Amino acid sequence: MLGSGEARWRECVSYVNNNMENAVGAMYVRETFAGESKRMVRDLIEKIREVFVETLDELQWMDEASKEKAREKAMAIKEQIGYPDYILEDQNEKLDLEYANLNFSEHNYFENILENLRAGAQKSLKKLRERVDQDIWIIGAAVVNAFYSPNRNQIVFPAGILQPPFFSKHQPQALNFGGIGMVIGHEITHGFDDNGRNFDKDGNMLDWWSNFSALHFKEQSLCMVHQYGNYTWELAGGQNVSGISTLGENIADNGGVRQAYKAYLKWLDREGKEPKLPGLNLSHKQLFFLNFAQVWCGSYRPEYASQSIKTDVHSPLKYRVMGSLQNFEAFSEVFHCKKGTAMHPTGKCRVW
Ligand SMILES: [Zn+2]
Repeated sequence: MLGSGEARWRECVSYVNNNMENAVGAMYVRETFAGESKRMVRDLIEKIREVFVETLDELQWMDEASKEKAREKAMAIKEQIGYPDYILEDQNEKLDLEYANLNFSEHNYFENILENLRAGAQKSLKKLRERVDQDIWIIGAAVVNAFYSPNRNQIVFPAGILQPPFFSKHQPQALNFGGIGMVIGHEITHGFDDNGRNFDKDGNMLDWWSNFSALHFKEQSLCMVHQYGNYTWELAGGQNVSGISTLGENIADNGGVRQAYKAYLKWLDREGKEPKLPGLNLSHKQLFFLNFAQVWCGSYRPEYASQSIKTDVHSPLKYRVMGSLQNFEAFSEVFHCKKGTAMHPTGKCRVW
């Protein structure tokens, strides 16, 4: 566990959060997680899932048999939202038990780490003879990220990501759909990217594709391999993004933003208009895209850029935004980009 050059306090906080995720998770959730968020996010998941299924009808590269399988798989995706309920129990034997074998000392850092490694190894070995617990949480609650697990066909949204700018019950729905809505679509689409598509609705590795659909899936994907592979990242010394190693994430990003946008339009249709953001002369549709870009805003040191372009399965942040929007007609309409300009190229890629 060598430091990656973070500020010392961050190093320590993330060490504790990574190694005692449920203890930290319980404190985090008690401090800051709004109870009704769980219900609101479950609601959003259903809306996005519905759009994913409806959108299958638009695809010409896929035959009816494979679409039916995809529909079944999408409907079978299970979800975990926020945190595992048991971590908030008052008399918490289960949580206590997770740390029963740990002997920490307030004064020894190095020894605590060894102690932690020992207890962790013991815990893993014990699992070897136990039945797989399908309900176990694979990540702590205090984590700003989201996950898709192919062998469970499950999506996970820890409490940590259910906060602004991704989500808040106090922010306009345009921002929620552009933020957490897009993330939900992204995770669902992972079940159908170049890796996830090899697993069936129960998470077993099984080929449910017709030859026709499989062939065309690869063809549609290849378009994105070329698109992203053509991005040259100055910050990483002018290296190009690897279109192949980032393919799954790019497929997920493109699907996610498209589904979330459609789901937002449906919401607007049903619920009518909502307030705009004061001080910004932007329409609701523009706000959706603004928050989509906002949640991926970030910066890199050049050294980290050089490392991550070789190791990260995600495209660099700015290309995650640009790549998905260059492919999305709705974006160029809403921002009036002329055909043939950078953000409205004539050649567009689309898988889902
Ligand atoms: Zn992803």
